[in-house]
Amino acid sequence: MSKIEWTEKTWNPIVGCHKFSKECDNCYAEVMHNRHIHNPQQPKYTDPFKVVKPIESELTAPYSWSNPQKVFVCSMSDLFNKRVPLEFLKKVFHVMNNTPHTYQILTKRSDRMAELAHNFTWTPNIWAGVSVGIKDAIYRIDDLRKVPANIRYISFEPLIESVKDADLTDIHWVIIGGESGQSLQKLRKTELPWVEEIIEKAEEKDVKIFFKQWGRTEFNPNPIDPTIPKKGKKGKKKTKAKHLPKGGMQVNGKEYQEFPEYEPYRGYIINSYKDEVKELHDAVVDSISTLKQSYINCGQKLIAIEEMMDSIGKSKEHWKLFFDVDSFKEYCEVKLNISRETAYQIMWAVKFIQDTKPELLDDDSMKMPDYTKIRVLKPHRDDIVKNPKKYSDIYDMVFNPETTRVKLQEKVNEYFSTPKSIEAEIVEDDDTPDISMRILQFKMDIEDYISENDRDEFQKLMDKVEKLIKIEPVNPGTQISAENGELSS
Ligand code: SF4
Repeated sequence: MSKIEWTEKTWNPIVGCHKFSKECDNCYAEVMHNRHIHNPQQPKYTDPFKVVKPIESELTAPYSWSNPQKVFVCSMSDLFNKRVPLEFLKKVFHVMNNTPHTYQILTKRSDRMAELAHNFTWTPNIWAGVSVGIKDAIYRIDDLRKVPANIRYISFEPLIESVKDADLTDIHWVIIGGESGQSLQKLRKTELPWVEEIIEKAEEKDVKIFFKQWGRTEFNPNPIDPTIPKKGKKGKKKTKAKHLPKGGMQVNGKEYQEFPEYEPYRGYIINSYKDEVKELHDAVVDSISTLKQSYINCGQKLIAIEEMMDSIGKSKEHWKLFFDVDSFKEYCEVKLNISRETAYQIMWAVKFIQDTKPELLDDDSMKMPDYTKIRVLKPHRDDIVKNPKKYSDIYDMVFNPETTRVKLQEKVNEYFSTPKSIEAEIVEDDDTPDISMRILQFKMDIEDYISENDRDEFQKLMDKVEKLIKIEPVNPGTQISAENGELSS
């Protein structure tokens, strides 16, 4: 968690910098750097501050942060310092393109950012910002407008001069703040009219405003501003809250703590998986055309797609991102032109063969059993797979092309006393799903709306329901309650 009020985390794949303008005179990064320079726990700061050092090992860090966060990029340097090689910048952007966080870039080297911008993909999670604390830095805003970022912002901090000529056209957010972090003698005061000028311009253009702090209580034009942190004994701050505005954060009695509007970034998932998904999808589409001769290839690819979507998260949102559909059902119907039931039958059949006679899958000359025949085994599949010796005659019938589905069903009934209702459905039209299939379909329908944390509980509940149905023949009037998972008539 960062102490900087307008972000949540800092990420420093580069450390070190050098002074660039008079705004840098009291550089906070330099103070912090020098504080760590002899600290063995912080080996990346061992060189003097003026050594600009890209740190490859830092590039993996954002992949390990579990929740999407707002991340200030390079709080201990300037990302577009000319000593940062373009190749390294590309790596930084690659990380930002492929992780779910919202990245806040802030630079004083706006000309270099604008010049190199075309080398990078500005995914919507990358905000581009420039610092403008003096009137001679206003040109940076024109550079910023050349950068194709979804959100462009200006940090007027430390605001040490009036910047009344700043043009906020096409800017989405401004941060305003006074200087802090040094002794009172060194600090340069921010005057109220300079702040009012920016606020007025921002309000005119509908730009969001974040007023961070006055920097020192002595600089706050309102000495009784209630947001000035209270001091305890020995001058220590009483409040331990994260956002502790140095010197208070009200401007004429008002607080400005706005952020630009932005959507959570999901494109990183597409970036990470798009080639794999495309390849699999193309393979499924190809295999559909040979479905009549062999369903094996199609089934294997469907299983691969299902497993991949599982690993990504398998939410409605993911189906939308990859295939512009809401669910697996819609994917089958719209993209593959087959029913979801057919897809399940094929997948079950392939899984059954994989688990029982995988060697058949490598033998092109082998005729595979009809996938609708294998479906007969579905309610007892686990028992059968676990006890191959006990059910060897069932296996023989499955893999014997002469055995019809009805004959196989009779054999299964001998072993398992299959309820009449299931038997009746199985020998009906192929498109009429059996009870187990209905349960599976119900599960798939609901699963998209179950959070990741509840999935285990949900799976247990569904297993119970399935067991109950296998033990008790289901009456025609019996329904499964989606709310409590129990059977109710
Ligand atoms: S550009 Fe930023 S990090 Fe670099 S010296 Fe100036 S204030 Fe410090």
